[in-house]
Amino acid sequence: MNLSSFRERFGGEVILPGDADYDQARIVWNAIADRRPALVVRPISVEDVIAAIRFAREEHMVVAVRVGAHSVAGFSTCDYGVVRDLSRMRQVTVDPVKRRARAQGGAHLSQLDTAAQAHGLVCPVGVVGHTGVAGLTLGGGMGRLQRKLGLTVDNLVSVDLVTAEGERIHASESEDPDLFWGMRGAGANFGVATSFEFRLHPMDGTIFQGGVAFPIERSLEVAEHVREFIATHDDVHVALAFMKDEELGGQPVFVVGSTHAGSVDDAERDLRVFRELRPLWDTFGAKPYLEVQRMADVSSGWGQRFYTKAGFLAALTDGVVGLCAALAQTIPLGAELSLWAHGGAVGRVPDDAMAYTGRHAPFNISAELGWTNPSDDEQRIAWGRAAIAKVKPFMTTGQYVNDVVEAGTDGAQIYGQAKYERLVALKRKYDPDNFFRLNQNIKP
Ligand SMILES: Cc1cc2nc3c(=O)[nH]c(=O)nc-3n(C[C@H](O)[C@H](O)[C@H](O)COP(=O)(O)OP(=O)(O)OC[C@H]3O[C@@H](n4cnc5c(N)ncnc54)[C@H](O)[C@@H]3O)c2cc1C
Repeated sequence: MNLSSFRERFGGEVILPGDADYDQARIVWNAIADRRPALVVRPISVEDVIAAIRFAREEHMVVAVRVGAHSVAGFSTCDYGVVRDLSRMRQVTVDPVKRRARAQGGAHLSQLDTAAQAHGLVCPVGVVGHTGVAGLTLGGGMGRLQRKLGLTVDNLVSVDLVTAEGERIHASESEDPDLFWGMRGAGANFGVATSFEFRLHPMDGTIFQGGVAFPIERSLEVAEHVREFIATHDDVHVALAFMKDEELGGQPVFVVGSTHAGSVDDAERDLRVFRELRPLWDTFGAKPYLEVQRMADVSSGWGQRFYTKAGFLAALTDGVVGLCAALAQTIPLGAELSLWAHGGAVGRVPDDAMAYTGRHAPFNISAELGWTNPSDDEQRIAWGRAAIAKVKPFMTTGQYVNDVVEAGTDGAQIYGQAKYERLVALKRKYDPDNFFRLNQNIKP
């Protein structure tokens, strides 16, 4: 490995096995993905990103691109190869007049949230602050504001990337529109995104958020209200969970969570329908938006072992609610079946507008399991797989790529056949050697 000539071309940090911070630098969010790269590089400029791509190509090394390191599959690390960690490129700037944010490729959601809120603005992003803007956006970006403001990717105006050839491209609806189409849903396949431009929306700093829990036996009765609510409030976020409540001694519960971005009075009025159903607990209230965006940062912290499996539901029928309620009887503590409503702004975008697939399904459902003891790996993963296999008859086309953990999943399952073929053509054009392959890979 010709490191000395690389160091001359590279302005950032290079961390090697044996260096004091190597073990810290190599780990990722999911402790299951415990790998040992040959080096970790931390570029500080686009020129560094280009130099690191050239170096990996010269050395025939595989490259893992990392921002938030949240890839549950462990795509942002590797054995023997190069981890390109963008953590030193995290600047976010906001133009309050144009209502635009520009986030460097290594920014986290918390930095985008904070910078936008400093001007009374917001970009809809995910629910854990230390998730990378890049990985989230390039796959789609679901979150608490999605029914009101769309997915993160629906608010992406342009993206700058460096290709496998070291070429810089600015992609938008008007420049390289085909590539821009593919970047929005399959973006980890085409290059290293070094900067994102987002549309922002006005939002004061307060939001109404929380949830109510019911004994699992009441799931069907409560689901009736959920269906009615979703049909009549298409800008309010609804997140359902089937789980065991540790504080209630492991009792299986059905949780209706929501984030209402209207006025507090409207939220109180709209969400009363659930709060009046005599729940076991009720955490609804007006809260600072930034606090809500950070509230899962510790419980979703680094170091746990994690598995997820997901798909899109065709409808929230009594059949699927009954099945989820039955699964809650055997679900491990700390796990949940999580259902997020689509519709609203998500459903108003045509499905073929971009690579992201599945937006017209009414719900995304995911089995999410976190644990700490490696000896539980097999049992937890088996539970998640079996649960989603049972839900499969209720599912429809597509899968959210950021929830796909099994490497080698058929791309046509994620994007549908027609979009997959279009993505293969793009991959052949922009990355014919499949240099960027640590992702849900589109094979050229
Ligand atoms: C705790 C937690 C909470 C989550 N919450 C949400 C949520 O609310 N909404 C949601 O939609 N999803 C959520 N996810 C899923 C998340 O969006 C994906 O895991 C996403 O890929 C993470 O991006 P990252 O940058 O943090 O991860 P990384 O592991 O750093 O990267 C993930 C993938 O993106 C690629 N990538 C990263 N940066 C770049 C770049 N600059 N250019 C090109 N490719 C790049 C990597 O190569 C890798 O394939 C969550 C995941 C976790 C673990």
